Amino acid sequence: MYAIIDGKATAEKIRADIKQRTKELKERTGITPGLAVVIVGDDPASKIYVNNKHKACEQVGFLSDVYALPEATAQDELLSLIDRLNSDPRIHGILVQLPLPRHLSEQAVIARISPEKDVDAFNISNVGKIVNGKFDFAPCTPAGVMKLLTEYGIDPSGKDCVVVGRSNIVGKPMALLLMHANATVTVCHSRTADLASHTRRADILVVAIGKARFITSDMVKPGAVVIDVGMNRDENGKLCGDVDFSSVSEKASYITPVPGGVGPMTITMLLENTLTAAEKHSI
Ligand code: NDP
Repeated sequence: MYAIIDGKATAEKIRADIKQRTKELKERTGITPGLAVVIVGDDPASKIYVNNKHKACEQVGFLSDVYALPEATAQDELLSLIDRLNSDPRIHGILVQLPLPRHLSEQAVIARISPEKDVDAFNISNVGKIVNGKFDFAPCTPAGVMKLLTEYGIDPSGKDCVVVGRSNIVGKPMALLLMHANATVTVCHSRTADLASHTRRADILVVAIGKARFITSDMVKPGAVVIDVGMNRDENGKLCGDVDFSSVSEKASYITPVPGGVGPMTITMLLENTLTAAEKHSI
């Protein structure tokens, strides 16, 4: 019998706590946490994500500024906006919605964000801090996965954890966070030979590949904890994860659904990182 890891309920609980901490910070210091979200171009999915982030900020009492720039924005213009936000005392977190249009360098833009305001933790100096294990912010999606494990009393220490996917925003930082939590971590990717031989050994399996229902029950160890980061549309346009929920749930001890699993935790961790940045600013 499996148990669902309910990301929606967990996110709501954490957001209530963030709202309370925000109120206390305002009362104590007069500081309102501020997040600036920068979006360039008209990508419909990016617009939805930015809108959701804006709404989430308002719900917990943050200041939220959205900078919607036209597709043709030049690199220099974008960098000067980042410079202005870096020195704006009302703003504690800066997030640039990715992907950027092709003519802009994501690397250069992220590198320009001041590390103290880099609430996505993509800036190379924050990546370095995550590698050495002493960091203020972790990238939101892997941080959300760690929070779910903690909330459900699942301790990765000494466990065999397999992460499928090695992207800079999910797979790699996920592996590092699990390693810092004393797991034995294997990272798989598209060149991994015999993927199932690795996934079948996992006590905790985290999948972030972007392929609808790719992980099937024969690839999962009985009793495993299965965390599905994937967000895909199936052939009928229905939102689904990278894990075949209906068959894998029969074998798992815990499993995250899609939607309602990891997804709601990502924005919650963005709020948490922004509040942390504001609290540090107040010290
Ligand atoms: P990327 O496309 O950047 O990375 C995908 C990774 O999966 C790569 O490392 C790739 O390997 C690996 N991969 C692809 N195919 C296979 C395969 N057949 N076998 C093993 N590994 C494979 O994706 P992201 O990390 O950005 O995102 C992954 C998924 O998570 C997507 O569905 C995305 O929408 C979702 N996502 C969800 C979030 C949330 O809040 N819930 C947040 C961020 C992402 P290689 O490196 O060799 O190419």
